Amino acid sequence: MKQLEERIKKDGRVLGDDILKVDAFLNHQIDPDLLLAIGAAFAQQFQDERIDKILTVESSGIAPAVFAGLALHVPVVFARKNKSLTLPDGVWTADVYSYTKQTTNHVMIDQRFLGAGERVLIIDDFLANGQAVVGLLDIIDQAQAVAVGAGIVIEKSFQKGRQLLDARGLPVVSLARIKAFRDGQVEFES
Ligand code: 5GP
Repeated sequence: MKQLEERIKKDGRVLGDDILKVDAFLNHQIDPDLLLAIGAAFAQQFQDERIDKILTVESSGIAPAVFAGLALHVPVVFARKNKSLTLPDGVWTADVYSYTKQTTNHVMIDQRFLGAGERVLIIDDFLANGQAVVGLLDIIDQAQAVAVGAGIVIEKSFQKGRQLLDARGLPVVSLARIKAFRDGQVEFES
C-alpha cells in the first residue's frame, strides 16, 4: 500500500537493528484517515471470504482492527492481557511472548464473544516473530472457530513470523512488507 509506505518513510523511526517506531500515526497518535484506508484495503483483500468476526490483541491491534471491522461490517474482539494472577471463568486463553517487551503476556477472550464455527479474520499492527498471531490461532482452535486469514499493517519480512504462518497454511495479507533496515532507513519488498 503506497500511502502507508510513504508514511512509514516520512514518520517511521528505526530503533536498533529491528524495531520500527510508528507512534506518530499508528501506535500512540493515530491518523484516522490513514486507518480508514487501511481498513478498506483489508476489506478489499478479503472480499471473497465470509468473515463473521475480527480478532486482535490489545492495545496496538485495536485501531486497525476496528477500521477493518467498519469496512467489513463485522464485530471486533480484542484479546485482553490478563494482569491478575487468577483466571476468570469462561475464557479462552493463550500465552504470547512479546519480542519488543521481552515478556510473556497471558491473553484471554471471553467465551461469549467467540464460538464454534465462526469465521475469523485476525488483524494486527505488526508481524515480527508471529507469536501474537499464533496465540490468537490457539484461541481460535480452542473455540473451534475457523481462521480465515491474517491482515497485518506492517510486516517485517526478515523476522520469522511470515514463514511460520506460511508453514501453517494461513493466508497472510500485509499492507507494507519491510525487507530490511539499512543505516536507519526502511527498505520495502518490491
Ligand atoms: P510478533 O508476535 O509477531 O513477534 O510481534 C507482533 C507484536 O509485537 C505486534 O503486535 C506489535 O505490537 C509488536 N511489535 C513487533 N515488532 C514491532 C516493531 O518493530 N515496532 C512496533 N511498534 N511494534 C512491534
